[in-house]
Amino acid sequence: MNAPSLLFEPQPQPCVPVVGQDKRFPVHRIYCVGRNYAAHAREMGKDPEREPPFFFLKPADAIVPGGGKLPYPPGTANLHHEIELVVAIHRGGRDVAADKALDHVYGYAVGLDMTRRDLQLAARDLGRPWDFGKGFDQSAPISAVHPAAKTGHLSKGRIWLEVNGRIRQQGDLAELIWSVPETIAFLSRYYLLQPGDLIFTGTPAGVGAVVRGDRLRGGVEGLDELAVEIV
Ligand code: MN
Repeated sequence: MNAPSLLFEPQPQPCVPVVGQDKRFPVHRIYCVGRNYAAHAREMGKDPEREPPFFFLKPADAIVPGGGKLPYPPGTANLHHEIELVVAIHRGGRDVAADKALDHVYGYAVGLDMTRRDLQLAARDLGRPWDFGKGFDQSAPISAVHPAAKTGHLSKGRIWLEVNGRIRQQGDLAELIWSVPETIAFLSRYYLLQPGDLIFTGTPAGVGAVVRGDRLRGGVEGLDELAVEIV
C-alpha cells in the first residue's frame, strides 16, 4: 500500500504513557463532561438536577502527558483548575449499552481540564461555543494511564487537588451525577467512539484561579498523582 505523499511532516501523534508498559496510548479525541458533580454545578450557578449530560471537546494535542511546567496561556486573566478522572477507551462502538460500557475502557488517568474561565463564561452568557475557554493549547495535563486490568474499574474513591500545598478541590467518584458507564452509553449515541478516545468525566467543587508560580498536585485514589507548575 502506498502511503500518500504529504506536503509537509504531520504533527506527531499525541500519546500518553501507560503504567507498567513501554507502549503508549495514542489519543484520538478528548471528550469532556460538563458539571458532573452536584456541588460544582451549584458553584457555577446551575441547578444540579439530573438533566442529560452535556459535552465539549478538546483537541487531542491539548494533552500535556505527565504534567510538569505549564505555560500560563494567552488571552485570559482567570485560568482555572479542574481536577478530573479520565477514562481511556480502547474499543470503539456506537450505541453502547451501559452494562457493557466498561468493556470499552482500557484504563484510567488523572487529568486537569484547564479552563480560561473568563472566556468560557463570556461565551456561555452569549450562547457562543466554549472552544476558546476550554480547547486551547496545553489545556489537558494528564497522568499516565493505569490499565483497568490492574486497578479494576473505578466507581468510588477520593479525588482531590492541592495548590501550593493547600487543598482546593475534594470529592469522591461516587458523587458523579453520570457514572462512567452511563457517560459512555450516552456519548456513544451521538458519536462513534474510537480506540484512543479520552473522556474527562467532570470536576468536583472548589475550582479556582491559578497564577504563574503556582504548584498544582492532584490525584484520584488508586492512580498516580499529577503535578503541574504554572510558568
Ligand atoms: Mn471540566
